Amino acid sequence: MLNLLFPSKCPLCESTSDNHLHNPVCSKCWSSIERYSGPSCEVCGIPTASPYTTICESCLSKKPPFSKVLYYGIYTGALKKTIHLLKFNKLKRLSSPLCLLLNSLPIPEVDGIVPVPLHLKRLRQREFNQTANISRCLSKKLKVPLMLNVLEKVRKTPPQTDVTGKERLKNVKNSFRSSENIKGLRLLLVDDVITTGATVKESAKALIDSGAKEVVVVALARSMPK
Ligand SMILES: [Zn+2]
Ligand SMILES: [Zn+2]
Repeated sequence: MLNLLFPSKCPLCESTSDNHLHNPVCSKCWSSIERYSGPSCEVCGIPTASPYTTICESCLSKKPPFSKVLYYGIYTGALKKTIHLLKFNKLKRLSSPLCLLLNSLPIPEVDGIVPVPLHLKRLRQREFNQTANISRCLSKKLKVPLMLNVLEKVRKTPPQTDVTGKERLKNVKNSFRSSENIKGLRLLLVDDVITTGATVKESAKALIDSGAKEVVVVALARSMPK
């Protein structure tokens, strides 16, 4: 019966999925998703290999609006494919296993969970915000309220993947707005993929400007700097 309701082929390797009640991706493909444990900046999480400092140059020269960025893995391989399947192929059943990856990270105590929002127009195009789906699941696991309306994307921007390097920060500058009822709160900002960090920086800035006490960022993946 469940085999009829859910396709039992792993969407990554096409072999028969052995765990499809819980995860459409088979356990072999899923276990290839590794948590990144290499050297990284203590603050923004960028993978660095400097033997001299644990904080990257960018964070040293300008303190970011968030206190920490946690992420599960590098945006590559099965993790990248899985995020794509959720985001563009709308394979919503992946929200839950991906949420469990986030839940395995050392997330500090927070007062609320805020997903990085999509602009309303983009939300209509895509029909759902994958980050909000994952945040909803994480909110249940951590027993922390989900705050869907405190952050708003007020300016529609081209997808970050369509613009290059320095343009990215300009692209998202002042594109987020936050409501005022977050004074003194410690918030967990959730995103799916961190590329340059410009989006989470701007989002965290909007939250801090509205009175949040602290913003910790958590993401599924981070791309390797070029
Ligand atoms: Zn597979
Ligand atoms: Zn840094």
